[in-house]
Amino acid sequence: MYNCAICTLKGCTRRALDESLPDCPNKNDAIQTKAKALYQEEENKKIAYNASLVEVQGYGTKTRIEEIIDFAKKCGYQRIGLVFCKGLSKEAKVVHNIFTYHELTVVSVLCKNGGIEKKFLDLTEEDTLSGDCNEVMCNPIGQALLLNEQKTDFNVIMGLCVGHDTLVMKYLEAPITTLAVKDRVTGHNPLAAIYLSESYYKKLFTGV
Ligand code: SF4
Repeated sequence: MYNCAICTLKGCTRRALDESLPDCPNKNDAIQTKAKALYQEEENKKIAYNASLVEVQGYGTKTRIEEIIDFAKKCGYQRIGLVFCKGLSKEAKVVHNIFTYHELTVVSVLCKNGGIEKKFLDLTEEDTLSGDCNEVMCNPIGQALLLNEQKTDFNVIMGLCVGHDTLVMKYLEAPITTLAVKDRVTGHNPLAAIYLSESYYKKLFTGV
């Protein structure tokens, strides 16, 4: 079992591989060898190489949307799938306009595509916000299949709910990045709760 999240030594970051926890991922030679071999595959190398360039060239100066544009261009991704939530429709339109301004082609699919009723998932009235199980469900599998059919080069997720993003990532075929995640309470900034977890959001530990 690996516990990097609670490792205070972080020897891996200094190539001091002996400064680590007993069950350190550095010590798993078989996996590390396999990982290095996978980086030699053409697409993986392109992605990893360009990700590093984007990191360095925009470090502390470029926002995530700028980095996504830079990354797409460096990788030669022209046809961008925009996977978005109805709750971020205005933002999706702006993102569409920004991408097209930068001469990228955008194919966008809304979460509610297909208009499938929630009762299709055996959800009942009590399981819906409106009290109506005819309410339209989110259809992340549809989003993924439609963008696969459109042969997008690269997909950008914008504001999908927890779990819906899980399914869209499961079925999308082209590489994926996330511009924004859904967090209704924090204005889509989930780290706000983490930063405040020792003060205003201590309920994350205390439950109250
Ligand atoms: S890889 Fe090893 S040294 Fe690095 S954080 Fe994880 S346990 Fe610590």
